[in-house]
Amino acid sequence: MSKVLLIGAGGVGTVVAHKMAQMPEVFTEILLASRTRSKCDAIANAIGSDRIKTAAIDAENVPELVKLIKSFGPDLVVNVALPYQDLPIMDACLETGVSYLDTANYEPKEEAKFEYKWQWVYHDKFKEKGITAILGCGFDPGVTNVFTAYAAKHHFDEIHTLDIVDCNAGDHGKPFATNFNPEINIREVTQRGKYFENGQWVETNPHEIHRPLNYPGIGPKESYLIYHEELESLVKHFPTLKKARFWMTFGQEYLTHLRVIQNIGMAGIEPVMYNGMEIVPIQFLKAVLPNPGDLGENYKGWTSIGCRIKGIKNGKEKTYYVYNNCSHEESYKETGTQAVSYTTGVPAAIGAMMYLQGLWKKPGVFNVEQMNPDPFMEQLNKRGLPWVELHDLDLEF
Ligand code: NDP
Repeated sequence: MSKVLLIGAGGVGTVVAHKMAQMPEVFTEILLASRTRSKCDAIANAIGSDRIKTAAIDAENVPELVKLIKSFGPDLVVNVALPYQDLPIMDACLETGVSYLDTANYEPKEEAKFEYKWQWVYHDKFKEKGITAILGCGFDPGVTNVFTAYAAKHHFDEIHTLDIVDCNAGDHGKPFATNFNPEINIREVTQRGKYFENGQWVETNPHEIHRPLNYPGIGPKESYLIYHEELESLVKHFPTLKKARFWMTFGQEYLTHLRVIQNIGMAGIEPVMYNGMEIVPIQFLKAVLPNPGDLGENYKGWTSIGCRIKGIKNGKEKTYYVYNNCSHEESYKETGTQAVSYTTGVPAAIGAMMYLQGLWKKPGVFNVEQMNPDPFMEQLNKRGLPWVELHDLDLEF
């Protein structure tokens, strides 16, 4: 018997709900709660399983969360709402003594700067309470952390360089759209670039460093160095790393739109007065952009995300590349969403499974690379995200 409270009914929440519903032996009861209850109902109806109950919740209101958690009595709360809700949901979990899992680290609304420090400080409180928090269990962060942990455990004595490469070679047919929440996505990709080298963080202008990289089954794609949240935890937990970087592909059309959006102030996070009321430009922009959850229908092509690693094994230099390719069309057929939601939602459901089966259960706050990667890697192959390993190859770096 295990009960899960799933918070957030966007693209990612849709996939998590589908995957959990496919595993009745693990997830006996599922309550899907979000700000707009009709979106939860639509997901539950599309799945057609009467095991999914729904509720409305403001996940920034701790007393409301506590009430909902107490009335449902879950074993785990899975948060796939927005990063702004991480801390109130963790507070409610602490108050009710229920474990927690999310896919993105906390970021204050008024400052576009995501960092783990906000959530890591909860470690002692979670430990004292005897409950677990699993942070960043999507694809990147999430699977990329598990890939790194798996490589370090099985293929290297020491890992020295890590390049996480994230390619979306899909085409949704729209001039401009983001693949997950537009507000969070635009805040992330317009930040200054940053990477880790020889014990220090090196900052770059946004998209200043780029190069073509070859993605398996896809070919060469221009890839841009950006800062991504898993770098922070990975360099902490793998102290042998001398260099760690994150690369993401962007098309010219996407970058041109992004530049215009920034130049005209539409990416702003400070409120402005409009017709006597305060509006936040980026939140207004989200309202007029395509909903990422609806992109799936005409989305063609693949995503390819993986880790390219150099290090030492038995005194010799070694290179290694582990990746997953995921089809937008197949993701849509199975869940009605595109591959970016799919590649995030499947690992969140697997992480929840790891916790409920006692495989990833320890008191405190943890990033996924601190857990045993093996059972998670096994489930990726079974649940729609198979991975491929390549050894001793040219990593292009
Ligand atoms: P969406 O915007 O599609 O969905 C977010 C959902 O959260 C919506 O249903 C929204 O409600 C709900 N929500 C927002 N605010 C509140 C609130 N105060 N109380 C209750 N519910 C709320 O986002 P995605 O599904 O694309 O992304 C979900 C999360 O996944 C994000 O945190 C994102 O950063 C993360 N992510 C992680 C990735 C990874 O690989 N690790 C990759 C991609 C995304 P409403 O419908 O009313 O707006």
